[in-house]
Amino acid sequence: AILADQIAAGEVVERPASVVKELIENALDAHSTQIDILVEESGLKRIQVTDNGDGIAPEDVELAFKRHSTSKITTKKDLFKIKTLGFRGEALPSIASVADVLLETATATPPSTIIHIKGGQLVSKKIGARAQGTQIVVSDLFFNTPARLKYLKSMQTELAAISDIVNRLALSHTEVAFSFQSNGRLLLETAGNGKLQQTFSAIYGVKVAREMIPISGADLDFEVSGYVSLPALTRASKTYISLLLNGRYIRNYQLSNAVIKGYGSKLMVGRYPFAVINLKLDPLLVDVNVHPTKQQVRISKEDQLAQLLRKTIYTRIAQENL
Ligand code: ADP
Ligand code: MG
Repeated sequence: AILADQIAAGEVVERPASVVKELIENALDAHSTQIDILVEESGLKRIQVTDNGDGIAPEDVELAFKRHSTSKITTKKDLFKIKTLGFRGEALPSIASVADVLLETATATPPSTIIHIKGGQLVSKKIGARAQGTQIVVSDLFFNTPARLKYLKSMQTELAAISDIVNRLALSHTEVAFSFQSNGRLLLETAGNGKLQQTFSAIYGVKVAREMIPISGADLDFEVSGYVSLPALTRASKTYISLLLNGRYIRNYQLSNAVIKGYGSKLMVGRYPFAVINLKLDPLLVDVNVHPTKQQVRISKEDQLAQLLRKTIYTRIAQENL
């Protein structure tokens, strides 16, 4: 079973940022309103995520580390209308198979459970006194898979990837207060007051945030909303376009391009806008079960959605009369 988990880890846990992503998504699925993330040495030494969410009941804690055991899907029908970020039940067992994991969790009913798993082996399980919520500490990532360690990029690149994922998840959940520390330095703190502008300003600075304009549009199948920068604010990086589909951060070439096309001739060649776009659609119209990391999704009527997005931005930018 450990070997199978390590194989799955090869897909789910590519780098420290993937661990951070999975842990934050679990905290979000558990309805947390406060999520604190702490990393040391770009996550290789330590990744700690603390939430105030639902927690896991003592009898379910070990199960959470078993492959394909998820509390989020019970019937086959659920698979076609996924509302949570996780559903494959692979993250925790994968992470625990390639690291040292200490998890303490409690539901509204005490006590808490403290479980220690290293390289997929249960080390200990005991009762603790933590209040409702979950704290997971992942240490020595890839200690038993040296090949994986070797393929990592520089510490700086790995930290940038973590920062990027934290930023995107914070942007996609403005109702949650996030804090993010790296080697003792506070890199991000959001208020969790539901205001995208506030989160934007925490990430990109007040100046950028002030010049973002809201967009919104809809057709029979889709709703698009969010903020885009005025052309004056463009930066030469496509990564400043964040797409959130029903709260899930996704990568999609056609849709990112639709954002850029929405600027028409207003955008200078080689420059890209800042944008955070929320896409809302019936979960039946999207298949998130394409890749283990779930960042690629299959959308029915994707062309129609791209059209709507382009038109919504085009119309809004035109109103600004630049
Ligand atoms: P998935 O998210 O796909 O269900 P995971 O391996 O990420 O699978 O997590 C396994 C299970 O552990 C989840 O279904 C959930 O029940 C539980 N779990 C994990 N993290 C948390 C958390 N932070 N708070 C509450 N429950 C959690
Ligand atoms: Mg998960």
